[in-house]
Amino acid sequence: MEADRKLRVGIMGGTFDPIHHGHLILAECAYEQYQLDHILFLPSGNPPHKQYRPDGASGRDRMNMVALAIADNPHFSLEADEMERSGYTYTYETLQVLQHNHPDTEYFFIIGADSLMAFDTWKYPEIICRYCTLLTAVRDDLPFDAMQRKAEELKRSYGAKILFLDSPELDISSTALRSRFRNNRTLRYYVPDCVLEYIEQNGLYKDTQNTKE
Ligand code: ATP
Ligand code: MG
Repeated sequence: MEADRKLRVGIMGGTFDPIHHGHLILAECAYEQYQLDHILFLPSGNPPHKQYRPDGASGRDRMNMVALAIADNPHFSLEADEMERSGYTYTYETLQVLQHNHPDTEYFFIIGADSLMAFDTWKYPEIICRYCTLLTAVRDDLPFDAMQRKAEELKRSYGAKILFLDSPELDISSTALRSRFRNNRTLRYYVPDCVLEYIEQNGLYKDTQNTKE
């Protein structure tokens, strides 16, 4: 590696309730396609847009599942910063802190197409765009030209740097998985075996009252 090359770090942010193979494949695609050095998995603490998840797991359980899912990948690690913060957690603050603590790192924030389309609703999108490049993946059958139009709009509005990921389209979401599990359908092959074991052993997602810390 050249001496002046910045460290290239991907950030895979999410609620991870639970983490599934859609998240893991996305992160690995970003790592490979954009020659990243490392990927940080950043479970959101208390995201303002996901307040009401009556069937959701606690922050501790979501974090434990991420740790289990990424344990066998040496270039994946867990970033617990948002979990440790109280109150609402915002991506712009997390990025500010990371960039301040690691000025020689270039950050790439990995998102699916649904997050790209909703990016305007995130707090201070212009600050997020200052600190990272968005790596965007297809999702939910969203046409690629609609994603490109949105990317152009975000470039104009916020100076966003946006690149596209060449990733397989996997129709998996945590919401659908929670619902499947509650209805006694298997999560096998949707989540890593160790995550499924954790869900079963800790009685997650069966009881809609079983929530939060
Ligand atoms: P939920 O149903 O609770 O919203 P989710 O499956 O969307 O869960 P999140 O934790 O919200 O998972 O997702 C974190 C990020 O990963 C988001 O940017 C989302 O777009 C992306 N993502 C999640 N699943 C996929 C998938 N199957 N394909 C592409 N992107 C995905
Ligand atoms: Mg989501």
